[in-house]
Amino acid sequence: KNYIREDIIRLAKEWDVKFIRLQFTDILGMIKNVAITVGELERALDGEIMFDGSSIEGFTRIQESDMYLRPDYNTFSIFPWHPRKSSVARLICDVFTPDGKPFNGDPRSTLKKVLAEAEEMGYKMYAGPEPEFYLFKLDEEGRPTTTPNDQGGYFDLSPVDLGINTRRDIVLALEEMGFEVEASHHEVGPGQHEIDFKYADALRTADNIVTFKFVTKAIAKEHGYHATFMPKPIYGEAGSGMHIHISLFRDGKNAFYDPDDSLGLSEVAYYFIGGILKHARAITAITNPTINSYKRLVPGYEAPVYISWSAANRSALIRVPATRGAGSRIELRNPDPSCNPYLALAVILKAGLDGIRNKIEPGPQALDNIYDMTAEERKAAGIGSLPGSIMEAVEELSKDEVIKSALGEHIYEHFVEAKRIEWEIYRTQVHKWELDQYLKMY
Ligand code: GLU
Ligand code: MG
Ligand code: MG
Repeated sequence: KNYIREDIIRLAKEWDVKFIRLQFTDILGMIKNVAITVGELERALDGEIMFDGSSIEGFTRIQESDMYLRPDYNTFSIFPWHPRKSSVARLICDVFTPDGKPFNGDPRSTLKKVLAEAEEMGYKMYAGPEPEFYLFKLDEEGRPTTTPNDQGGYFDLSPVDLGINTRRDIVLALEEMGFEVEASHHEVGPGQHEIDFKYADALRTADNIVTFKFVTKAIAKEHGYHATFMPKPIYGEAGSGMHIHISLFRDGKNAFYDPDDSLGLSEVAYYFIGGILKHARAITAITNPTINSYKRLVPGYEAPVYISWSAANRSALIRVPATRGAGSRIELRNPDPSCNPYLALAVILKAGLDGIRNKIEPGPQALDNIYDMTAEERKAAGIGSLPGSIMEAVEELSKDEVIKSALGEHIYEHFVEAKRIEWEIYRTQVHKWELDQYLKMY
């Protein structure tokens, strides 16, 4: 899609659009929107709609509270689950300051900056996500429970998989919004599902992930379920990841492909992997940003724990799928769907570019199942671990100037501050596990 101003005005008439939501995300990846009536559409298209940013997470300084929204015309789409008369549409926007500069607390602009850096080096990033989520039943008052909607397992079919109707309606809604959905299936956990949509350039993919999450929640609600992207909602069951398939293109060709290499990977691809491995511990603060994220990154649930790469082994942090040629790519397996996709793709790309610039070798691939190795064997093989908690990850981030520079000072500082507060509240709670464990014992 390549919409110009007139296309949107025409489509708004054709689709009988009465309301337009101007969307953007805050630093924590929460989607925000300002709703306008269609009468304001032309002003909106010209970037003249202003909002008060002072109460938005990470937008907080009162003196800079006036912000302008500049829509990306190509994101214009309708909300298909609303009535087709007097319908609702949306535009994803960049946030600008009154003096016409991109606001440096805007995650979307932050990703654009790193994409521009890649472009200067001759690269365009493509990404394809695999978001997983749980469908939970609601209680009598309509509140989400942690009772899964079914007891199905991996690739189950109806009637065990009660999510099939919900999943189909999610897919249909996404397709009406212009998504190309590649696959959808039941995942390993009870009530756990996955929907994969086609890869696109990194900016589009980040927009798609944000859209995907709220569409999934909206459709699940219509079916009487709560969809959650919380990374580990049930102890003892699989967590929900969001693997990201990544490739770089140069002059319209896949720069990760080299037919002469045994794995079909180019030097650029190996350096990119090297960069990610080097910065993995810092990146994880952004790709796995919640306290709960670290309860997923444990052995036994197909989630990565150790910093390694492999063409065969699914427990590795980076896997090289078997596809070759134009489809050559790497799969990064630690991200989870609680991340802010703009910031996540920004730091992943930044790490990869650092690898290319400084020719960082990834080292040998991990051939053995790393989970069967002892701590000593891993140490001897030079295999590190991902951080064990968000605070450990934030600590790593604070030491990594390359990754910090991708975020910029404003976002970095607000992010760390938000995480400190979250951690302090969490750390001082008395958890149910402690009561179960200690109340009678002591
Ligand atoms: N649910 C697993 C995770 O936490 C991934 C399962 C899969 O390979 O799709 O990453
Ligand atoms: Mg999966
Ligand atoms: Mg995968």
